[in-house]
Amino acid sequence: MTITNPDGLRTMPRPKRIRQVATQPRTDYFKPRGILLRELSEVVLAIEELEALRLADLDDLNQAAGAERMDVSRPTFARILHEARQKVADALVNGKALRIEGGAFEVALRVFRCAACDKEWTMPFGTGRPDRCNACGSVNISRMDGQRSGAGPGRHGFGLGHGRKRGA
Ligand SMILES: [Zn+2]
Repeated sequence: MTITNPDGLRTMPRPKRIRQVATQPRTDYFKPRGILLRELSEVVLAIEELEALRLADLDDLNQAAGAERMDVSRPTFARILHEARQKVADALVNGKALRIEGGAFEVALRVFRCAACDKEWTMPFGTGRPDRCNACGSVNISRMDGQRSGAGPGRHGFGLGHGRKRGA
């Protein structure tokens, strides 16, 4: 996938690897007030770049921990984070709109299973552990996705349909 901003300044032709993200953005467009859309330059921030910002700057993880969360190497995490910070700074300093979209990622979800009724369901990270099955009310539920330990069968994700590869 090639991401080109409207200025044509930044292209990233190299093949994308899949990164893990735990959340989807709440909103996907930020625009400075009082500027017509057609007069606005736009910066495109990939989902995984937003995730790197979240982990490093909001959750205060160090780069080793952030890399582990996103299932990439530390240099890759550092590069994603650097590009993300540059883009956000560019938008803030130069009054550009910020569009959040695309990239190569999958949403890491926790999978729970009820032993009483066999129901399985997924929940994103950071939402707390469920107390009971929401179908039958049993408290006999267990986590099925192996606690983020690599590419287990419990990883439910979406993205661009790449084969899953480990980060460089
Ligand atoms: Zn149940």
